Amino acid sequence: MGAVIWDLDDTLVVERAAAEAAMLATCEWAAMTLSVNPVQLCDDVFGLAKSHWRALPTIRYARDVGISSWEGLWATFDGPGPELAELRSRAPSYRQSVWRAAVERQLHPSAKAISELADRFIVERRARIRMFDDARSTIDHLCQRVPMVVVTNGAPDTQRAKVRHSGLDRFGLPTVISGDIGVGKPDPEPFERALRMLGVSPAQAVAVGDSHSRDVEPALELGLAALLLIRESTRKEQQADPHSRFGVISTLHEVTQIVEP
Ligand SMILES: [Mg+2]
Repeated sequence: MGAVIWDLDDTLVVERAAAEAAMLATCEWAAMTLSVNPVQLCDDVFGLAKSHWRALPTIRYARDVGISSWEGLWATFDGPGPELAELRSRAPSYRQSVWRAAVERQLHPSAKAISELADRFIVERRARIRMFDDARSTIDHLCQRVPMVVVTNGAPDTQRAKVRHSGLDRFGLPTVISGDIGVGKPDPEPFERALRMLGVSPAQAVAVGDSHSRDVEPALELGLAALLLIRESTRKEQQADPHSRFGVISTLHEVTQIVEP
């Protein structure tokens, strides 16, 4: 295999667990100052973020490039283009309205308390940017051996922050970010860009990611090999399917064996 196209969120860097931990830390901090139930507040913020995010006029763009409601709670939406400008102008009121609606399910907060909570989550989330251990060692091993590109959905600022603050940037991998190009996975365009950057044909590359619909399916349609990363214990069930057109791995160390048999 001549080249690797990596997914970023929950493949190379921790996403869901980091977002949940940051939310819990923020809500526990709120519990100390506002006497709210932190677990209920967490649930309410995640739920209300989804509904408020869907109600924004930017939802079509956010869906096209794959920016989630909880990313909207810490993204700055820096970058060119009218869609990012619109999100940039709406983000502060989006965050305030989500936090206010969530806290108001338990008590009536001050405007200052809501601002502090919205800001606190941004700090807590940024503090939890990190690579998976198997990602660090695998990228370290492969980066001098095969060309590699990262292809990720999301806002340019959050995805760049993850690359930079996780330490992934020291490997110097080119990165295709959906928010920069206006279209995200599962559209084939980000993969086609990655192949052009790598200078290889689809048959020479393998895509590695944790999403069947966004990473594996578009890769297979373009003629790439694909590896679905499932870090949890469902792996045996996946392996039992003899008709599977893609491989299933439970750690990124397995990518090394496939790329360099
Ligand atoms: Mg992912």
